[in-house]
Amino acid sequence: MGNKNVLIIGGGTAGLSAAVELVNLDIHVDLVEKSDFLGGHAIGYTCKATRNTCVKCGACMVEEKLKDTILHPKIKIWTGSRVQEVSKNGRFTAKIHCKPKYIDPHKCTNCRICFDKCPVDGAILHGFSKNNIPFYAINEELCLYLKDKSCGLCRDECPETAINLDPKATEYIKEADAVLVAAGFHPFNPEDKPYGYHRFQNVITSLDLERMLKQVGRVKRPSDATIPERIAFIQCVGSRDSKLNHLWCSKVCCGSALRMARLLKERQPDIDISFFYIDVQTFGKDFEQFYKDVQEEVRMIRAIPGDIYETDRQKLKINFLDNNTHETLEEIFDLVVLSIGITPGKDNGEIAELLHLKLADSGFFKSGAEEASAPNTGIFSAGTISGAMSIPETIASAGKAARQIVKYFRANDS
Ligand SMILES: Cc1cc2nc3c(=O)[nH]c(=O)nc-3n(C[C@H](O)[C@H](O)[C@H](O)COP(=O)(O)OP(=O)(O)OC[C@H]3O[C@@H](n4cnc5c(N)ncnc54)[C@H](O)[C@@H]3O)c2cc1C
Repeated sequence: MGNKNVLIIGGGTAGLSAAVELVNLDIHVDLVEKSDFLGGHAIGYTCKATRNTCVKCGACMVEEKLKDTILHPKIKIWTGSRVQEVSKNGRFTAKIHCKPKYIDPHKCTNCRICFDKCPVDGAILHGFSKNNIPFYAINEELCLYLKDKSCGLCRDECPETAINLDPKATEYIKEADAVLVAAGFHPFNPEDKPYGYHRFQNVITSLDLERMLKQVGRVKRPSDATIPERIAFIQCVGSRDSKLNHLWCSKVCCGSALRMARLLKERQPDIDISFFYIDVQTFGKDFEQFYKDVQEEVRMIRAIPGDIYETDRQKLKINFLDNNTHETLEEIFDLVVLSIGITPGKDNGEIAELLHLKLADSGFFKSGAEEASAPNTGIFSAGTISGAMSIPETIASAGKAARQIVKYFRANDS
């Protein structure tokens, strides 16, 4: 297989896992990731081990795949890049558009001077993993040099001269024997629900909490950096919602939120946690026992709240219907965490058009024996591009796609 090459679109858990599987089978890989960093959503997740015991959340598995990917000489990584055109005449020919590379990853030593000196919050981005390459990236929307050339501190202060603020975008033509689509999912945007996200500072999403725990290890209220006394988790935000026509269960949210709730109880035991849910969906090995244990520490409330209102000191009032008495109850919390679901990726339509595929009615890619993995197209899919799945399921789907690709090569070589 040493002469074969696969083009992977998307460098999240699915893309990284497939890349590692394929190079282990002696197949070359071009891994095209549109953002500046590899790892997708899950690279921002925290390890949720409690009492020094792994709770099988899967976060560390992504870190391992990232490390294996960046170390492998047969994986060509294209971050900040998009596939713009694809044609097939025996092999695939793809045009890859790469946005300007402001920071040379070969020169950057992760000294962090650019990050510390930059006068604009968020203008220099740092990836979530210690294994990122590049370590830093320039946020084109916020950088003052790119706006009006009024600053060049990062470039001037970099001891390795790794920063060039005037590079050009580039385009490359690459050939491939198969294409694997692994462009992932879009987290539901809860701004349209009556929960006050982006209106009330102390309403955050489960992804925000993941990142807060990964970066600082503890939870604080965004409004005043105080430790919340009472936190409410609200499940199924954007999933199992007929008004949105999102009838699917995102499968991973209950497990992920309960694991974070338990981690919080271990690290900040004085916090009182309530968990509003419809049904608890279990995932991962040993979840049943974990769920029994967690119910001793977290108050489980079978109800989905109505609107959320802000009260004094930016506390949050939640109304909900008591499941037993059917009375409307009202409670005040210091912080609300919305467990947002998995929805189809923003680029699904564009990628489907590029590859002449049709999406399922839900907006996800068709999977299995359907469209994207049909045996003779040479186009395969893996991960959440085809629907909600956990990290271990995503890794398994990437392994399956790699095996399908090998089968496709064997069938077409004979
Ligand atoms: C709130 C929340 C919490 C979760 N917690 C857990 C958990 O604790 N445990 C667990 O097992 N699972 C969890 N999951 C699920 C987990 O996030 C997914 O299983 C995993 O991220 C799927 O990986 P992926 O590669 O399919 O998608 P993604 O992580 O979305 O990666 C896709 C990648 O493709 C890139 N991309 C997109 N479009 C393009 C394009 N046009 N060109 C190039 N690149 C592109 C994206 O930038 C991204 O890097 C959680 C999900 C959510 C929403």
